[in-house]
Amino acid sequence: MEMKASGAGANAPVSKGFGRFFLPGPTEVLPELLEAQLKPMIGHRGADIKALMEKLQIGLEDVFRTERTVFLSTSSATGFMEAAVRNGVRRKALALVNGAFSERFGELVTSCGLEVEVMEVPWGQVHDPQAIRDRLKKGGIDAITVVHSETSTGALNPIQDIARVANEADDVVILVDSVSGVAGAELWSDRWQLDFVLTGSQKALALPPGLAFGVASERMMDRSKAAKGKGQYFDLMEFAKTQADNMTPATPALSTMYALEVQLQRIAKETMEGRWQRHAAMRDATVEWVDQMRGERGVDVSVRAREGFRSPTVTTLNMPAGKTSPPVVAAMKDRGIVLGGGYGKLKEPTFRIGHMGDHTVAGLETVLEVLEEVLTA
Ligand SMILES: *Cc1c(COP(=O)(O)O)cnc(C)c1O
Repeated sequence: MEMKASGAGANAPVSKGFGRFFLPGPTEVLPELLEAQLKPMIGHRGADIKALMEKLQIGLEDVFRTERTVFLSTSSATGFMEAAVRNGVRRKALALVNGAFSERFGELVTSCGLEVEVMEVPWGQVHDPQAIRDRLKKGGIDAITVVHSETSTGALNPIQDIARVANEADDVVILVDSVSGVAGAELWSDRWQLDFVLTGSQKALALPPGLAFGVASERMMDRSKAAKGKGQYFDLMEFAKTQADNMTPATPALSTMYALEVQLQRIAKETMEGRWQRHAAMRDATVEWVDQMRGERGVDVSVRAREGFRSPTVTTLNMPAGKTSPPVVAAMKDRGIVLGGGYGKLKEPTFRIGHMGDHTVAGLETVLEVLEEVLTA
């Protein structure tokens, strides 16, 4: 991908005071999006909500690269991970695990009373489509759970290739958590034939938390129709039914939707391709900086994920041998910059830079300069 970001003002300074909060979720929200939330309430049945939902739908379809309805749930993204499982898994899922979030996706299957088989690779690596193909051939699996961008490790799974394997198999649906992917990392819901893709508002969409979004294939909706004990709140049939009429099953997080309306206008201006390029450029700038640190400054930090499989939205850095990350994250905070600590069992040996949402290469470079000071102090 090209280094240069394109699109309207993609790398221009976005707003004064913006660009100091690089947590990989929730991410920094532009002041104009926060302000958009101040509008008064509207009824969640009737003309006003229908007009709003209709507008949101058009923008969301572009974000998900789909012609299908994008379901909107008032929940965190975990809610739609649960929806994926409750509606999509018939009996037994193959959980592809390569980090903390994919591990949680697999555990969720068991907690819904369904069976799971875990296929785990070391945290930081991605899954090999051939190994998945070999396992599916043995039978017994009717769904795959997979995380696109593993926010704990910064690894980007080859979703298109994994989907191809799932689609070759006999009646295996692919359920994709793209929470830190969608709107930052390239993804095509329809073209790649993904059965369910989900994200949340507070990652690469750079909105306040409160909303989850998902797209289901026809095959997924057939599974949903047949699913027993799926409950009501995350029943995809309910979303399909009410959203056909531009409303939601229950009262939605209206304020977050107001912010989304403005954000979708901004995204349309930048274009999704421009957004993907800007994120890739932020990843590349981070990797380049790490190379400099190692080569010129003698600081032994390294990128956890392998080249070619690095997420454009989050980079997980391994600390030099014998050092832990909490003092680094604390020193950055003292300097007014928030980074993510290591996640789960990677808490001490790693830390994370969430370069997603409305951050820019220019803003990121400021952060890396300060980080260089901290690491060489
Ligand atoms: C943040 C995240 C989640 C959980 O999202 P919530 O909105 O906190 O429920 C799940 N998966 C991935 C990959 C994430 O980055």
